Amino acid sequence: MPNTPYPSSYYAATANPAPARPELEEAKQADVCVIGAGYTGLSTALFLLEHGFSVVVLEAARVGFGASGRNGGQIVNSYSRDLDTIERSVGVGVEQARLIGTMAFEGGRIIRERVARHRIDCDLKDGGVFAAFNAKQMHHLESQKALWARYGHHELELLDEQGIRQVVACDRYIGGMLDRTGGHIHPLNLALGEAAAVESLGGVIHEQSPATRIERGANPVVHTASGSVTARYVVVAGNAYLGNLVPELAAKSMPCGTQVITTEPLGEELASQLLPQDYCVEDCNYLLDYYRLSADKRLIYGGGVVYGARDPADIEAIIRPKMLKTFPQLKDVKIDYAWTGNFLMTLSRLPQVGRIGDNIYYSQGCSGHGVTYTHVAGKVLAEALRGQAERFDAFASLPHYPFPGGQTLRVPLSALGAMYYSLRDRLGF
Ligand SMILES: Cc1cc2nc3c(=O)[nH]c(=O)nc-3n(C[C@H](O)[C@H](O)[C@H](O)COP(=O)(O)OP(=O)(O)OC[C@H]3O[C@@H](n4cnc5c(N)ncnc54)[C@H](O)[C@@H]3O)c2cc1C
Repeated sequence: MPNTPYPSSYYAATANPAPARPELEEAKQADVCVIGAGYTGLSTALFLLEHGFSVVVLEAARVGFGASGRNGGQIVNSYSRDLDTIERSVGVGVEQARLIGTMAFEGGRIIRERVARHRIDCDLKDGGVFAAFNAKQMHHLESQKALWARYGHHELELLDEQGIRQVVACDRYIGGMLDRTGGHIHPLNLALGEAAAVESLGGVIHEQSPATRIERGANPVVHTASGSVTARYVVVAGNAYLGNLVPELAAKSMPCGTQVITTEPLGEELASQLLPQDYCVEDCNYLLDYYRLSADKRLIYGGGVVYGARDPADIEAIIRPKMLKTFPQLKDVKIDYAWTGNFLMTLSRLPQVGRIGDNIYYSQGCSGHGVTYTHVAGKVLAEALRGQAERFDAFASLPHYPFPGGQTLRVPLSALGAMYYSLRDRLGF
């Protein structure tokens, strides 16, 4: 099978050299077969390999082909839903909420530790900012800071109007919050570095090898077009690109698209005017914008959500106006790259973690903020396979419901809901 190219993006154009991994063409055995070579699959594989498991990773296309190689590159702590929502969730006990809350800040540490240990060249920078447009959003950040402190996260600084001007040259914000343990990375190079780390520990990755069927049983068999892997455990990590391989998982989630553009290089001077501290920024709107500088001083700007993950015909036409609203000073700047990627939304906006039968484990659906969560998920899945399931059980206790309207109406109903929340953002209530 010819190698699927990465979709055209700034990341694909600046990817570190990586080998093309062979398609699976035989019947193999391993302790664990991981489906999907994004951060969830690679992180799981790494933690398992470090504990002596043999691991085969099957990737439908290329390492980091999905969201992990296309995202905004923002290391954002916590989840796509606030910790107090988790505390109030039906069926989640106090201890389980405490565990989930504490894990909210672990992913960034795992990424930094992996980057250092495996010398991954992925332009890691520290510092992330949440930017508020109105008093309601600012109060929310204040309460987040207090809430996160309860879970031991103290690296936060509230920014007033003057403070936020010093980190981002945009006069639309009234304040914000700096998370010193946030930050940014070149996402595809992080995935490629993690894949190399998997192989350095004896793991095997097959690209161009979509899993077509899982034969369930005491020793599940994962089939591809030309081969199979018989394993003690299967870890499903295909997220928004999984399709209907595991119907139980498809039923409770919805793939969504979000788009990113990248400018031509801005030069040191303009780049450091826009974002003087080189922090990444996301705003506090329901449909949020996120942006940062690349290592070669371009602006990488993303935003919006396409429910149901239809690819828009003209991405620049959607995202450039958003960028110019934030930075009108870029009106003459050319866009060099534009691309789309899919993440997986759940109704609660919280990840779905669990087990099907005795030996098929999964994590999916972090609903937008997944760079840190997926790294924790890998650790938690590996712990569960080693018989330490306390943290896995905490995530598995989160309640999940199907989208209202089922497969047919979930897209228009979600879009309607988003319109309502966007209107509230605009009116500031
Ligand atoms: C455009 C965009 C911007 C984002 N920005 C941010 C951000 O700045 N910060 C943040 O925290 N989060 C962000 N996210 C979310 C984050 O990128 C994801 O949550 C995270 O990368 C998901 O990782 P994953 O490994 O679970 O899934 P993916 O990275 O999507 O990996 C799944 C992999 O499984 C493979 N696969 C699927 N089915 C099969 C099969 N049957 N057989 C074999 N392989 C299969 C796919 O090819 C894919 O490579 C963004 C997402 C997108 C799309």
